[in-house]
Amino acid sequence: MPACPRTACPICDRPTALTPTSRTGYGALAGHKREKKSLTLCPGSMVQLAYATATAWQEQLPEDSGPPAANGDVPSEELLIF
Ligand SMILES: [Zn+2]
Repeated sequence: MPACPRTACPICDRPTALTPTSRTGYGALAGHKREKKSLTLCPGSMVQLAYATATAWQEQLPEDSGPPAANGDVPSEELLIF
């Protein structure tokens, strides 16, 4: 997994992740809210920006490191089959 670029949203100035797009060298700002309790997304959400504008690159988020190890699940599934 490549590192995830982050940049400040041009609308609300929050540091926001850029997600890959089909446009080479560009990423789309991840959907985010201007305020935590707000029900609407910031207008800067999904705006495409050049990766060159990224202010920081973070490693993969811990929560996104893939499904949990299934070591314990495999034997139980085999038991279900028999
Ligand atoms: Zn914003």
